[in-house]
Amino acid sequence: MSVVGFDLGNQSCYIALARAGGIETIANEYSDRCTPTCVSLGEKQRVMGVSAKNQMISNVKNTLHGFKRLLGRKFDDPLVQAEKVHLPYEVVKFQNGDAGIKANYLGDAEEFSIPQVVAMMLTKLKETAEANIGRKVVDCVLSVPNFYTDTERRALLDAAKISELNCLRLMNDTTAVALAYGIYKQDLPAPEEKPRNVIFVDMGHSALQVAACAFNKGKLKVLATSADPTLGGRDFDRVISNQFAEEFKKKYKIDAKSKPRALLRLLAESEKLKKQMSVNANLLPLNIECFMEDIDVSAKMKRADFEEMAADLLKRIEAPLRQVLADSKLKKEDVESVEIIGGSTRVPAVKEIIKKVFGKDPSTTLNQDEAVARGCALQCAILSPTFRVREFAITDVTAYPIKLTWKSSMEEESEMEVFSKNHQAPFSKMLTFYRQEPFDLEAVYIDPKSLPYPNPYIGRFTINKVTPNPQGESSKVKVKIRVNIHGVLTLPSASMVEKLPEQPEGEVNGPEPMETDQTEDQKKTEAGEEQNADKQNEQQANPEQNQEAAMETDQTEAPKTENDDDAARATPEEEKKENTDAKNGEKKAEPQSKKSKKQVKMIDLPIDIHVNRFTTGQINLAVEKEGKMIMQDKQEKDRIDSKNSVEEYVYDMRNKLYERYEKFISEKDRETFSKLLDDTENWLYEDGEDEKKQVYIDKLASLKKLGNPVVNRYQEDELRPKAFEEFGSALQQVRKVLDLYAQKDEKYDHIPEEDMKKVEKALKEKQKWYDTKLNAQNQLAPHQNPAVMSDQILTEKKNLETVCNPIINKPKPKVEPPKDDKKEEKKEGESGDAKPEGAATQPEQEQQPQQQQQQQPQQESKSQEDMDLD
Ligand code: ATP
Ligand code: MG
Repeated sequence: MSVVGFDLGNQSCYIALARAGGIETIANEYSDRCTPTCVSLGEKQRVMGVSAKNQMISNVKNTLHGFKRLLGRKFDDPLVQAEKVHLPYEVVKFQNGDAGIKANYLGDAEEFSIPQVVAMMLTKLKETAEANIGRKVVDCVLSVPNFYTDTERRALLDAAKISELNCLRLMNDTTAVALAYGIYKQDLPAPEEKPRNVIFVDMGHSALQVAACAFNKGKLKVLATSADPTLGGRDFDRVISNQFAEEFKKKYKIDAKSKPRALLRLLAESEKLKKQMSVNANLLPLNIECFMEDIDVSAKMKRADFEEMAADLLKRIEAPLRQVLADSKLKKEDVESVEIIGGSTRVPAVKEIIKKVFGKDPSTTLNQDEAVARGCALQCAILSPTFRVREFAITDVTAYPIKLTWKSSMEEESEMEVFSKNHQAPFSKMLTFYRQEPFDLEAVYIDPKSLPYPNPYIGRFTINKVTPNPQGESSKVKVKIRVNIHGVLTLPSASMVEKLPEQPEGEVNGPEPMETDQTEDQKKTEAGEEQNADKQNEQQANPEQNQEAAMETDQTEAPKTENDDDAARATPEEEKKENTDAKNGEKKAEPQSKKSKKQVKMIDLPIDIHVNRFTTGQINLAVEKEGKMIMQDKQEKDRIDSKNSVEEYVYDMRNKLYERYEKFISEKDRETFSKLLDDTENWLYEDGEDEKKQVYIDKLASLKKLGNPVVNRYQEDELRPKAFEEFGSALQQVRKVLDLYAQKDEKYDHIPEEDMKKVEKALKEKQKWYDTKLNAQNQLAPHQNPAVMSDQILTEKKNLETVCNPIINKPKPKVEPPKDDKKEEKKEGESGDAKPEGAATQPEQEQQPQQQQQQQPQQESKSQEDMDLD
């Protein structure tokens, strides 16, 4: 299982991995830990991240950025319309009204849904992580703005599915940061003590997010969140570039806003200047060469000017800060620290406002850029069975109040708030209705004005197969409603409660054990939610005792821990399927009170879910398309790599032909080869610039046909003397043994003569081979092909040793000891060779399983890595 956290920012992404040593933020192929949220579609491939950003100006209409803001939105959405104006690529309306993107890919105009484009970016992050870990990445935790609504969250989950990632949790940016902050703190108050309250402020490129959190030892509770979803660093960039555009109009009579390329360049330079102004209050220059119509432009700005121009934006920062204080019911004095993260909190004026509102200097305990990704990786490690992380319970909140509406049988509209603003999440509630037939529940956000999304609709849930009870009256229908681990509203189950006739005591004939929701939930406990066991309390929900449409919480069935894994249940169809599949069949159940003899039957009801989400078919198509694009990218990469190999070979060979390889090629051949290399270089820039992979492979092969013998001669020249030397000393050694044998040396007097004759013969043959080859080689110039190869020499040496060594190394026979039975026995016992089978070897064999057993626990403990958090 991969343990990865991805921070998908509006401008930049970060990737963090959990390793045994702790959390590590990893770098991309450019050794940069920041990967721009940018996708560039090209004629032959698409690129993402740094390479895509590099094409922003050259491939302006097909380089996509700022798309995260369009996720889960309709084309007619006012936000999409407002964004569209600033985007150099084409935003289009899909048949279902969704916003999409039209761009040229592989030479044709193509339309892509926003989840598809986000998936392209996720593919890049996934591949970067895979390159770093060296294995496949599937499981991950993804960051999400804390203000995202249900539809936006579902769209991001769709994007994760398309990139074949298993998102274990969509984690609010600010909650991820709070986790990254709290889990390392050793001095948090004990659980029963007053918590430590910390405010987190994340101002990024396009949004401002705030959270108030309470920490106790091993526990993080988000008290409230707030946001300004349309206030970020890019708004500062626009203020600065607007000012310069006006100046250029007057000074140079050029309209920067009339050309997307020019505007992008101006925005990029304005952003650079903004960053410089964060550390320098002096007047600073902005210069752009050949800006428009070959005009070089220049202007100046200082921090004070910027603050004045951005005054309206800066003023907007206060509201969400004050809101979070009010919603969390914290006073300024209750806040122990204010932690800032996100690039835009580096602006001094932003820090000043934060200080003014909370009455204390903001702290930068965390890495401002990487904290979100690190928090996500920590959450992934907590959810992963392969890591042991310090116990840390996380309770988040819902950002907006949610109500359910339904029609009574009299066709009257009824409604009820099910989740208030800043309600604890994840959280399940059990609602009870009295109905005779299937009915719909509609979930909507209560306060559309407070919603940064034009449509408060969340979804419609149809509870099917509801029938009157056997007495012909309304049946009791229990519906579980839940804000799940992703912050998404779901309806995991519905069941009809049917009372069975009462039975006298003692005659209860083995009723099936009651499967309350509690036990059912426990079975399905999701790793991440397990730790939040205390979060899912039952709640009294304004019962409406109308026979037709009564709604109440049921105190007997308070869910404790529950799995509502939307990651596994990707689409409405899948949700529906799971709801029906899992609940086929009826359950006989007994009320929890043991004294009661009443029996009830729980009949699970299928639910139809209608939410804004891709269908399984759409997801499958998108997965297929993404797979094709990945394949295309790979093929193109291979093609480019083949081309680069030809280029590299040309440069490498041309240099070496006149240095290292000079004497290993004749002058005439060198000239011919050199010319061929020059021609190939020209070809690469002309006719061969855009060829198929095989053409480059063939070209390289034809060059190597000439080059390889040269390289070979050079290499042989290095290896051959050593090989001859080794062979020579082997011959020498055999000759020495033969001499000693001739002198009747007692070391070899046990070797039979006929054996020594074989040695003598072999020596003679090999010595002859050696002399002939050495002589032939000495006649040759270095640029001529060698008379003998080094590996041939080593083979001959080996052949000599194969014949001679067994003979000349034959051990002398041992001298027979005097005959003595006892001693003999002992001797045999001591001798390794003569060891009687059984007795001596037995204990060793017996030890083996013991050793294996001892190894077992070590292996087990290895499979679970302890993560070092300190
Ligand atoms: P979001 O959180 O809105 O989705 P993001 O996570 O991509 O976006 P960050 O990476 O946190 O955003 O911040 C990027 C923003 O911070 C950019 O607007 C960038 O210009 C700004 N920024 C970065 N460094 C500085 C600095 N030194 N001074 C001013 N602004 C800065
Ligand atoms: Mg961010």
